[in-house]
Amino acid sequence: MGEATAPGCLVSVRFFPAVLLLATIGFAQAPRTEPKPLDKIQVLALLAGGVPSQRVATLVKQRGIDFEPTDDYLDILQGAGAEDTVLNALRGARPVARPDILRGARPVARPDIYAAAATTETQVEQHLARGKGFRDKRAFAQAEEEFRAAVHLDPRNGDLHLLLGTILYDQARWHEAIAEYRRAVQLKPDSAIAYSNLGVALEAAIGRPLFGEMDPTDRHSILDAYRNAYSLMPNDPIIRDNYERWLLKSWPSLAIDPRAPLPTSWVDVWRFYVAHWHGWSGGYCHGQLSVGNGRITYRGPGGRDSVDWALSELGEVRKDSLYDLLILRHRNGKKFEFMAEDRLGDQKPTAPLLDAILQATGR
Ligand SMILES: [Zn+2]
Repeated sequence: MGEATAPGCLVSVRFFPAVLLLATIGFAQAPRTEPKPLDKIQVLALLAGGVPSQRVATLVKQRGIDFEPTDDYLDILQGAGAEDTVLNALRGARPVARPDILRGARPVARPDIYAAAATTETQVEQHLARGKGFRDKRAFAQAEEEFRAAVHLDPRNGDLHLLLGTILYDQARWHEAIAEYRRAVQLKPDSAIAYSNLGVALEAAIGRPLFGEMDPTDRHSILDAYRNAYSLMPNDPIIRDNYERWLLKSWPSLAIDPRAPLPTSWVDVWRFYVAHWHGWSGGYCHGQLSVGNGRITYRGPGGRDSVDWALSELGEVRKDSLYDLLILRHRNGKKFEFMAEDRLGDQKPTAPLLDAILQATGR
Protein backbone atom coordinates (compact mmCIF):
# COMPACT_ATOMS: atom_id res chain seq x y z
CA MET A 1 0.00 0.00 0.00
CA GLY A 2 2.87 2.36 0.82
CA GLU A 3 2.56 5.64 -1.01
CA ALA A 4 6.00 6.24 -2.45
CA THR A 5 5.38 9.80 -3.50
CA ALA A 6 8.47 11.94 -3.12
CA PRO A 7 7.81 14.97 -0.92
CA GLY A 8 8.42 17.33 -3.80
CA CYS A 9 5.74 15.71 -5.92
CA LEU A 10 3.04 16.76 -3.53
CA VAL A 11 3.62 20.38 -4.35
CA SER A 12 3.07 19.90 -8.03
CA VAL A 13 0.13 17.60 -7.47
CA ARG A 14 -1.61 19.87 -5.03
CA PHE A 15 -1.41 22.91 -7.28
CA PHE A 16 -1.88 20.95 -10.43
CA PRO A 17 -5.57 21.67 -10.99
CA ALA A 18 -5.02 25.37 -10.53
CA VAL A 19 -2.44 25.58 -13.28
CA LEU A 20 -4.28 23.16 -15.44
CA LEU A 21 -5.10 24.43 -18.88
CA LEU A 22 -3.89 27.96 -18.34
CA ALA A 23 -1.28 27.41 -20.97
CA THR A 24 -3.73 25.88 -23.35
CA ILE A 25 -5.40 29.20 -23.79
CA GLY A 26 -2.27 30.93 -24.85
CA PHE A 27 -0.49 32.14 -21.72
CA ALA A 28 2.53 30.15 -22.75
CA GLN A 29 3.28 32.45 -25.61
CA ALA A 30 1.77 35.49 -23.96
CA PRO A 31 4.82 37.75 -24.13
CA ARG A 32 5.41 37.00 -27.79
CA THR A 33 1.99 36.76 -29.36
CA GLU A 34 -1.35 38.47 -28.89
CA PRO A 35 -3.47 36.16 -26.73
CA LYS A 36 -6.27 34.66 -28.72
CA PRO A 37 -9.88 35.03 -27.61
CA LEU A 38 -11.35 31.98 -25.92
CA ASP A 39 -13.48 29.60 -27.89
CA LYS A 40 -16.56 27.74 -26.65
CA ILE A 41 -14.72 24.53 -25.90
CA GLN A 42 -11.91 26.27 -24.02
CA VAL A 43 -14.26 28.00 -21.60
CA LEU A 44 -15.86 24.66 -20.78
CA ALA A 45 -12.53 22.85 -20.63
CA LEU A 46 -11.24 25.40 -18.13
CA LEU A 47 -14.23 24.89 -15.87
CA ALA A 48 -14.11 21.12 -16.32
CA GLY A 49 -10.41 21.15 -15.48
CA GLY A 50 -11.10 22.69 -12.09
CA VAL A 51 -10.14 26.30 -12.76
CA PRO A 52 -12.25 28.43 -10.35
CA SER A 53 -15.18 30.41 -11.80
CA GLN A 54 -13.69 33.72 -10.70
CA ARG A 55 -10.51 33.00 -12.63
CA VAL A 56 -12.42 31.94 -15.75
CA ALA A 57 -14.48 35.12 -15.55
CA THR A 58 -11.28 37.18 -15.42
CA LEU A 59 -9.91 35.36 -18.44
CA VAL A 60 -13.11 35.97 -20.38
CA LYS A 61 -12.82 39.68 -19.61
CA GLN A 62 -9.11 39.84 -20.46
CA ARG A 63 -9.11 37.74 -23.57
CA GLY A 64 -12.58 38.08 -24.97
CA ILE A 65 -14.46 35.31 -26.71
CA ASP A 66 -14.80 34.40 -30.35
CA PHE A 67 -18.38 33.14 -30.20
CA GLU A 68 -21.87 34.34 -29.44
CA PRO A 69 -22.84 33.18 -25.92
CA THR A 70 -26.28 31.89 -26.80
CA ASP A 71 -28.87 31.00 -24.19
CA ASP A 72 -28.38 27.34 -25.01
CA TYR A 73 -24.68 27.61 -24.34
CA LEU A 74 -25.19 29.50 -21.09
CA ASP A 75 -27.72 26.85 -20.02
CA ILE A 76 -25.09 24.16 -20.57
CA LEU A 77 -22.61 26.10 -18.45
CA GLN A 78 -25.13 26.70 -15.72
CA GLY A 79 -26.07 23.03 -15.73
CA ALA A 80 -22.39 22.24 -15.31
CA GLY A 81 -22.27 24.36 -12.18
CA ALA A 82 -20.67 27.50 -13.58
CA GLU A 83 -21.18 30.38 -11.19
CA ASP A 84 -22.88 33.67 -12.06
CA THR A 85 -19.54 35.45 -12.31
CA VAL A 86 -18.71 33.39 -15.40
CA LEU A 87 -22.17 33.69 -16.93
CA ASN A 88 -22.19 37.46 -16.42
CA ALA A 89 -18.70 37.81 -17.84
CA LEU A 90 -19.78 35.91 -20.94
CA ARG A 91 -22.94 37.98 -21.35
CA GLY A 92 -20.86 41.14 -21.04
CA ALA A 93 -18.10 40.02 -23.38
CA ARG A 94 -18.11 41.41 -26.86
CA PRO A 95 -17.46 38.53 -29.23
CA VAL A 96 -14.35 39.18 -31.27
CA ALA A 97 -15.12 38.65 -34.90
CA ARG A 98 -13.21 35.79 -36.40
CA PRO A 99 -11.57 36.50 -39.72
CA ASP A 100 -14.67 34.93 -41.14
CA ILE A 101 -14.27 33.93 -44.73
CA LEU A 102 -17.84 32.80 -44.80
CA ARG A 103 -19.26 36.19 -43.93
CA GLY A 104 -20.69 37.80 -47.01
CA ALA A 105 -20.04 34.68 -48.99
CA ARG A 106 -22.65 32.95 -50.97
CA PRO A 107 -24.83 30.48 -49.16
CA VAL A 108 -22.60 27.57 -48.30
CA ALA A 109 -22.73 24.91 -50.93
CA ARG A 110 -22.80 22.00 -48.50
CA PRO A 111 -24.69 23.22 -45.44
CA ASP A 112 -24.98 19.67 -44.13
CA ILE A 113 -21.24 19.59 -43.41
CA TYR A 114 -21.43 22.74 -41.31
CA ALA A 115 -24.51 21.53 -39.55
CA ALA A 116 -22.69 18.33 -38.68
CA ALA A 117 -19.69 20.28 -37.37
CA ALA A 118 -21.90 22.44 -35.17
CA THR A 119 -23.57 19.37 -33.77
CA THR A 120 -20.23 17.81 -32.93
CA GLU A 121 -19.11 20.96 -31.13
CA THR A 122 -22.31 21.04 -29.13
CA GLN A 123 -21.86 17.40 -28.21
CA VAL A 124 -18.30 18.04 -27.06
CA GLU A 125 -19.57 20.90 -24.93
CA GLN A 126 -22.21 18.71 -23.35
CA HIS A 127 -19.69 16.00 -22.54
CA LEU A 128 -17.36 18.52 -20.94
CA ALA A 129 -20.17 20.04 -18.92
CA ARG A 130 -21.32 16.66 -17.66
CA GLY A 131 -17.71 15.63 -17.01
CA LYS A 132 -17.18 18.72 -14.91
CA GLY A 133 -20.26 17.89 -12.87
CA PHE A 134 -18.93 14.40 -12.16
CA ARG A 135 -15.46 15.64 -11.37
CA ASP A 136 -16.83 18.17 -8.89
CA LYS A 137 -18.47 15.24 -7.12
CA ARG A 138 -15.18 13.32 -7.36
CA ALA A 139 -16.91 10.73 -9.53
CA PHE A 140 -13.74 10.34 -11.57
CA ALA A 141 -14.71 7.25 -13.54
CA GLN A 142 -17.85 8.92 -14.88
CA ALA A 143 -16.00 12.16 -15.56
CA GLU A 144 -13.44 10.12 -17.50
CA GLU A 145 -16.21 8.56 -19.58
CA GLU A 146 -17.48 12.01 -20.54
CA PHE A 147 -14.03 13.42 -21.33
CA ARG A 148 -13.22 10.32 -23.34
CA ALA A 149 -16.39 10.78 -25.37
CA ALA A 150 -15.34 14.38 -26.08
CA VAL A 151 -11.91 13.19 -27.27
CA HIS A 152 -13.58 10.63 -29.47
CA LEU A 153 -15.61 13.37 -31.16
CA ASP A 154 -12.65 15.71 -31.63
CA PRO A 155 -9.51 13.55 -31.50
CA ARG A 156 -7.15 16.22 -32.82
CA ASN A 157 -7.91 18.72 -30.07
CA GLY A 158 -4.88 18.86 -27.75
CA ASP A 159 -6.87 20.57 -24.98
CA LEU A 160 -9.16 17.58 -24.76
CA HIS A 161 -6.29 15.07 -24.49
CA LEU A 162 -4.80 17.25 -21.77
CA LEU A 163 -8.10 17.23 -19.93
CA LEU A 164 -8.45 13.45 -20.24
CA GLY A 165 -4.89 13.10 -18.93
CA THR A 166 -5.77 15.00 -15.77
CA ILE A 167 -8.72 12.78 -14.94
CA LEU A 168 -6.54 9.68 -15.46
CA TYR A 169 -3.95 11.28 -13.21
CA ASP A 170 -6.64 11.88 -10.59
CA GLN A 171 -7.19 8.13 -10.63
CA ALA A 172 -3.46 7.38 -10.24
CA ARG A 173 -3.36 5.79 -13.70
CA TRP A 174 0.01 7.32 -14.42
CA HIS A 175 0.91 5.51 -17.61
CA GLU A 176 -2.41 6.20 -19.27
CA ALA A 177 -2.13 9.84 -18.20
CA ILE A 178 1.37 9.95 -19.68
CA ALA A 179 0.05 8.67 -23.00
CA GLU A 180 -2.63 11.39 -23.11
CA TYR A 181 -0.18 14.14 -22.18
CA ARG A 182 2.21 12.92 -24.87
CA ARG A 183 -0.61 13.15 -27.37
CA ALA A 184 -1.46 16.65 -26.08
CA VAL A 185 2.07 17.99 -26.57
CA GLN A 186 2.19 16.39 -29.99
CA LEU A 187 -0.99 18.19 -31.05
CA LYS A 188 -0.21 21.38 -29.17
CA PRO A 189 3.55 21.80 -28.82
CA ASP A 190 3.20 25.28 -27.33
CA SER A 191 1.24 24.05 -24.33
CA ALA A 192 3.44 24.57 -21.27
CA ILE A 193 0.86 22.93 -19.02
CA ALA A 194 0.77 19.79 -21.13
CA TYR A 195 4.56 19.52 -20.81
CA SER A 196 4.52 20.25 -17.11
CA ASN A 197 1.76 17.75 -16.47
CA LEU A 198 3.65 15.18 -18.54
CA GLY A 199 6.67 15.69 -16.28
CA VAL A 200 4.55 15.34 -13.15
CA ALA A 201 2.96 12.12 -14.42
CA LEU A 202 6.32 10.64 -15.48
CA GLU A 203 7.71 11.49 -12.08
CA ALA A 204 4.72 9.88 -10.37
CA ALA A 205 5.36 6.69 -12.33
CA ILE A 206 8.90 6.30 -10.99
CA GLY A 207 9.30 3.46 -8.56
CA ARG A 208 5.66 2.49 -8.42
CA PRO A 209 5.67 -1.16 -7.39
CA LEU A 210 3.13 -1.93 -10.08
CA PHE A 211 5.40 -0.69 -12.83
CA GLY A 212 8.79 -1.30 -11.30
CA GLU A 213 11.66 1.13 -11.45
CA MET A 214 11.55 3.38 -14.43
CA ASP A 215 14.16 3.06 -17.12
CA PRO A 216 16.88 5.56 -16.18
CA THR A 217 16.67 7.11 -19.64
CA ASP A 218 13.14 8.21 -18.78
CA ARG A 219 14.66 10.55 -16.24
CA HIS A 220 15.80 12.49 -19.26
CA SER A 221 12.21 12.57 -20.52
CA ILE A 222 11.18 14.14 -17.24
CA LEU A 223 13.88 16.74 -17.54
CA ASP A 224 12.89 17.43 -21.15
CA ALA A 225 9.23 17.81 -20.21
CA TYR A 226 9.93 20.24 -17.37
CA ARG A 227 12.48 22.13 -19.41
CA ASN A 228 10.06 22.54 -22.32
CA ALA A 229 7.36 23.76 -19.97
CA TYR A 230 9.80 26.18 -18.37
CA SER A 231 11.02 27.59 -21.66
CA LEU A 232 7.42 28.15 -22.77
CA MET A 233 6.24 29.71 -19.52
CA PRO A 234 9.22 30.76 -17.38
CA ASN A 235 7.20 33.09 -15.16
CA ASP A 236 4.77 30.53 -13.83
CA PRO A 237 5.88 29.73 -10.26
CA ILE A 238 4.64 26.15 -10.32
CA ILE A 239 6.28 25.35 -13.62
CA ARG A 240 9.51 26.93 -12.43
CA ASP A 241 9.34 25.02 -9.14
CA ASN A 242 8.81 21.71 -10.93
CA TYR A 243 11.82 22.32 -13.15
CA GLU A 244 14.09 23.52 -10.36
CA ARG A 245 13.03 20.75 -8.02
CA TRP A 246 13.75 18.12 -10.65
CA LEU A 247 17.14 19.61 -11.46
CA LEU A 248 17.96 19.73 -7.78
CA LYS A 249 16.94 16.13 -7.35
CA SER A 250 18.62 14.73 -10.39
CA TRP A 251 21.47 16.81 -11.63
CA PRO A 252 24.30 14.80 -10.09
CA SER A 253 23.05 11.66 -11.79
CA LEU A 254 22.26 13.14 -15.18
CA ALA A 255 24.67 14.18 -17.85
CA ILE A 256 22.72 17.37 -18.37
CA ASP A 257 23.18 19.17 -21.61
CA PRO A 258 25.28 22.18 -20.59
CA ARG A 259 23.47 24.31 -23.13
CA ALA A 260 20.17 23.76 -21.37
CA PRO A 261 18.63 26.95 -20.02
CA LEU A 262 18.80 27.06 -16.26
CA PRO A 263 16.41 28.85 -13.93
CA THR A 264 17.98 32.00 -12.57
CA SER A 265 18.26 30.55 -9.10
CA TRP A 266 20.48 27.86 -10.62
CA VAL A 267 23.05 29.95 -12.37
CA ASP A 268 25.45 29.18 -9.54
CA VAL A 269 25.70 25.62 -10.82
CA TRP A 270 28.39 25.40 -13.42
CA ARG A 271 29.03 22.46 -15.70
CA PHE A 272 32.08 21.75 -17.75
CA TYR A 273 33.16 19.17 -20.23
CA VAL A 274 36.35 17.65 -18.93
CA ALA A 275 38.70 14.75 -19.47
CA HIS A 276 39.73 12.81 -16.43
CA TRP A 277 43.42 12.01 -16.47
CA HIS A 278 44.18 8.42 -15.43
CA GLY A 279 47.97 8.82 -15.43
CA TRP A 280 50.56 8.12 -18.07
CA SER A 281 49.59 4.51 -18.53
CA GLY A 282 45.83 4.98 -18.37
CA GLY A 283 44.93 7.91 -20.63
CA TYR A 284 41.70 9.85 -20.29
CA CYS A 285 38.02 9.33 -19.88
CA HIS A 286 35.58 12.08 -20.82
CA GLY A 287 32.65 13.39 -18.82
CA GLN A 288 31.21 16.39 -17.06
CA LEU A 289 32.24 18.22 -13.95
CA SER A 290 29.54 20.19 -12.13
CA VAL A 291 30.10 22.60 -9.32
CA GLY A 292 27.63 24.63 -7.29
CA ASN A 293 24.81 24.36 -4.82
CA GLY A 294 27.25 23.04 -2.24
CA ARG A 295 28.56 20.06 -4.23
CA ILE A 296 31.09 19.06 -6.80
CA THR A 297 30.42 16.12 -9.09
CA TYR A 298 32.23 14.33 -11.86
CA ARG A 299 30.39 11.92 -14.06
CA GLY A 300 32.42 9.87 -16.51
CA PRO A 301 31.22 7.44 -19.17
CA GLY A 302 28.79 4.88 -17.80
CA GLY A 303 28.91 6.60 -14.43
CA ARG A 304 32.46 5.48 -13.72
CA ASP A 305 34.92 7.59 -11.76
CA SER A 306 32.20 9.54 -10.11
CA VAL A 307 33.06 12.24 -7.71
CA ASP A 308 30.08 13.46 -5.70
CA TRP A 309 31.43 15.44 -2.80
CA ALA A 310 30.15 18.22 -0.63
CA LEU A 311 32.33 21.22 -1.34
CA SER A 312 33.27 21.19 2.32
CA GLU A 313 34.96 17.80 1.75
CA LEU A 314 37.26 19.31 -0.82
CA GLY A 315 40.77 19.38 0.58
CA GLU A 316 42.75 20.93 -2.23
CA VAL A 317 41.96 22.74 -5.47
CA ARG A 318 44.77 23.91 -7.68
CA LYS A 319 46.04 24.13 -11.21
CA ASP A 320 49.04 22.23 -12.48
CA SER A 321 50.52 24.97 -14.63
CA LEU A 322 52.80 22.71 -16.62
CA TYR A 323 50.01 20.68 -18.21
CA ASP A 324 47.13 23.05 -17.41
CA LEU A 325 45.41 20.36 -15.39
CA LEU A 326 42.95 20.94 -12.59
CA ILE A 327 43.81 18.99 -9.45
CA LEU A 328 41.11 18.15 -6.92
CA ARG A 329 41.94 16.36 -3.71
CA HIS A 330 39.38 15.05 -1.24
CA ARG A 331 40.10 15.53 2.47
CA ASN A 332 40.70 11.79 2.64
CA GLY A 333 43.58 12.20 0.20
CA LYS A 334 41.94 10.83 -2.93
CA LYS A 335 43.10 12.83 -5.96
CA PHE A 336 41.52 13.52 -9.36
CA GLU A 337 43.09 15.38 -12.28
CA PHE A 338 41.03 16.94 -15.03
CA MET A 339 41.64 18.70 -18.29
CA ALA A 340 39.00 21.20 -19.49
CA GLU A 341 37.77 20.60 -23.00
CA ASP A 342 34.96 21.50 -25.32
CA ARG A 343 32.20 19.23 -26.55
CA LEU A 344 34.39 17.94 -29.32
CA GLY A 345 37.18 16.99 -26.95
CA ASP A 346 39.59 19.81 -27.78
CA GLN A 347 41.56 21.09 -24.82
CA LYS A 348 40.50 24.40 -23.26
CA PRO A 349 42.07 26.46 -20.49
CA THR A 350 41.18 25.27 -16.99
CA ALA A 351 41.07 28.80 -15.57
CA PRO A 352 37.25 29.26 -15.84
CA LEU A 353 36.76 25.88 -14.21
CA LEU A 354 39.13 26.75 -11.38
CA ASP A 355 37.45 30.13 -10.93
CA ALA A 356 34.00 28.55 -10.69
CA ILE A 357 35.17 26.11 -8.04
CA LEU A 358 36.94 28.79 -6.04
CA GLN A 359 33.87 30.99 -6.25
CA ALA A 360 31.57 28.15 -5.18
CA THR A 361 33.79 27.28 -2.22
CA GLY A 362 34.33 30.91 -1.28
CA ARG A 363 38.12 30.51 -1.40
ZN1 LIG B 1 38.25 8.46 -15.69
